[in-house]
Amino acid sequence: MAAVTHDLPDLAAMEAFGARIAAKIRVGDVIALSGPLGAGKTTLARAILQGAGHRGEVPSPTFTLIEMYDALEPPVAHADFYRLDNPAEAEELGLDDYREGAVLIAEWPERAGGFAHEPACLAIDISFDATGRKAIVEPGTDWLGRVP
Ligand code: ADP
Ligand code: MG
Repeated sequence: MAAVTHDLPDLAAMEAFGARIAAKIRVGDVIALSGPLGAGKTTLARAILQGAGHRGEVPSPTFTLIEMYDALEPPVAHADFYRLDNPAEAEELGLDDYREGAVLIAEWPERAGGFAHEPACLAIDISFDATGRKAIVEPGTDWLGRVP
């Protein structure tokens, strides 16, 4: 399916987009959030987690690399691969264990080898657009029929 572009002129639009994604997630999904520093990857991850029912802080996992939210249904793992030097390190983190039975939200997915080839991946590329943001959404085949 062709990519879908969303205009997200402000924070409220970004948060509403996250809530729409949260309503559609299933175990096994990967939400791959790419885009430069400050684009809004963590903001969108936070909105997805809150939309999935998380109450409280959503720290950026820049230092811990992965934060697990296993009280949610489905459980969600939020990862930031910015600090990985090579994709093999993602395996060493136990990424496969985190992914089992959960949804993975991944910032800097390309540094973990990328997920966009997976049918369960919803790839979202965020870029700066005037004072707001633009998101280009590319659904894997598992996402056809539920593209947010
Ligand atoms: P990243 O994780 O991509 O480095 P962050 O989410 O940490 O970026 O920071 C993004 C910044 O941009 C935050 O200050 C956030 O409030 C702001 N922001 C997020 N979405 C939008 C938007 N749609 N329009 C304007 N500002 C936004
Ligand atoms: Mg971030």
